[in-house]
Amino acid sequence: MPAKEEILRLDRDHLWHPFTQASDYAERDPVVMVGGRGVRLFDADGRAYYDAISSWWTNTLGHAHPRLVAAAARQAAALEHVNFSGFTHPPAADLVAGLVEVLPPALSRYFFSDDGSTAVEAALKMAFQYWRNRGRAEKTRFIMVDHAYHGDTLGAVGVGGVDLFHRIYRPLTVESFRAPGPDCARCPHRRSRHTGDARDTGCALECFDAFEALLREKAPAAAALILEPLLQGAGGMLVHPPLFLQRARALASELDLLLILDEVATGFGRTGTLFAFEQAGVVTDLLCLSKGLTGGFMPLALTVATEEVFQSFYGDAASGRTFFHGHSYTANPVACAVGAEHLRVVRELGLPRSAALVLDHFHRRLKEFAEERWVSDIRHLGFVGAVDLAGPGGAPLDPAFRAGWRVYHEGLARGVVLRPLGDTLYWFLPLVVTREEVDAILDRSRESMRAVLDGAPR
Ligand SMILES: *Cc1c(COP(=O)(O)O)cnc(C)c1O
Repeated sequence: MPAKEEILRLDRDHLWHPFTQASDYAERDPVVMVGGRGVRLFDADGRAYYDAISSWWTNTLGHAHPRLVAAAARQAAALEHVNFSGFTHPPAADLVAGLVEVLPPALSRYFFSDDGSTAVEAALKMAFQYWRNRGRAEKTRFIMVDHAYHGDTLGAVGVGGVDLFHRIYRPLTVESFRAPGPDCARCPHRRSRHTGDARDTGCALECFDAFEALLREKAPAAAALILEPLLQGAGGMLVHPPLFLQRARALASELDLLLILDEVATGFGRTGTLFAFEQAGVVTDLLCLSKGLTGGFMPLALTVATEEVFQSFYGDAASGRTFFHGHSYTANPVACAVGAEHLRVVRELGLPRSAALVLDHFHRRLKEFAEERWVSDIRHLGFVGAVDLAGPGGAPLDPAFRAGWRVYHEGLARGVVLRPLGDTLYWFLPLVVTREEVDAILDRSRESMRAVLDGAPR
C-alpha cells in the first residue's frame, strides 16, 4: 500500500469524488481510511471514528463482520463472476431463498442489478413497459413527491424532487408529475413542537388532499407512483406516518397506477422493521432494494416485482415483451453470497426487533436535543434520527455559513463521521449499535454542533 502522503498526492492529482466540490479540499485533505471494525472506522494515523451514517446508509452489522468476510472469500475462490443470462448460480438462489421467506408472497420475481439507482431504473422501465404490454401505451409518465430522491442516473433523476441535486439535469430527463408529499417537519397540523415519531403525529393527514388531487388529475397519463416509504432520506431525513402510505397504496390501485416502493435506504431493518412498508401493512407492485442488501459489503441491488407484472412480459421472442435491461455484473456471485449470508445473520440475531431497547434509548437521547437552542425539529424512525439546525425562533441559518458542513468537520475532529444534509444533522446507525455507542455518538455530535453554532452569525 502506498504511504499516506503518496495516497493524498494521487488523490489530489487524479481522483474525482462524488457529491463533492473539489475546492472544499484545496486547503484540507480527505481522511485516508484504512480499516473498519464494528461501528468504527480507522484512519491511516490509527485514529478511530464512529461511523454514525453507516457509510452512506449501507452498513448494517458493523464493518468487517467475520461471517460476511468469510462468505465473500469462499465465493470469490469458487466462482467470482459469470454472466446471468442463460446461467444461474448457487449464491443467487441462496439469496432469493432467504428473501422469499421475509418478503410478501405477492412479490415473487427478483431482478438483479448493481446499486440503488439501477434498481430504480429497472423499476421505472418495468412499469412503463407493463402498461404497453397491456395495451395502455398512453401511460408513460411517473408521479413522484416533493423531496423525493431515487438516485443519480438519468431515469432516477427524472423522478427526483431535491432541487439542489436535480434541477441542473432537468433538461436531460423526461418530466415527471410532482405531487406535494407529506412534510411533517414543516406541517402546521402536527400535535407537538417537534415531529418526533412520525407514527404518532396526531394529525388527520391533512396533506393527503393535495396529493390525491394531483394523482387524480395525472393518473391517466402515468404508469406508476414512486415513493420512499416512511422516510425520505436524501431529501432531508423526513419522516411521515404509515397512514400516508396506506392511503397512497389504495389510491394507486384505484387509479390504475403501479406503486414503486424505493426501500433502497429503508430496507433491511433501518426503520425498526425489516422493511418500512411492513409498518403500513401494504404490499407494493415493485420494490427496490440495495444499500443494506449485502450489509454494506458489495454493490448489489434488486427490483422485486409481482407475478402479475412479470407475467405481462411473458410471450414469444417476437412479442416485443422482453425486458431489455441488464448490467455486466448483474447478480455477481460474490455479492449474492454476501447478501445471502447477511440475511441469515440478521435473522439469527433477531434484528431489528432484538434492538428494541437500544432504539428506545436512542430516541430518548435524541429528545434531549430539544434543549438545544439551535435545534428547530427532531424526528426519528428506527435507527434513523435527525435534527434541523436553525437560528433563534427557528429562522433558517445563513446558507453561506454552511453550518452542516462545519459540523461535519468538527465531528471528524471528535472522532465521529456525520454527513449533514444541508443544515439537517442526522444519524443513520447500524443495527448492531450498543447503548454506549449511541451515547458516544450523540455526545460527540452535540459537542460538534455547539462548537460550530455558538460561533454562528445571528
Ligand atoms: C441512495 C438511494 C438511492 C440510490 O442508490 P445508489 O446505490 O446510490 O445508486 C435510491 N433511492 C434511495 C431512497 C436512496 O436512498
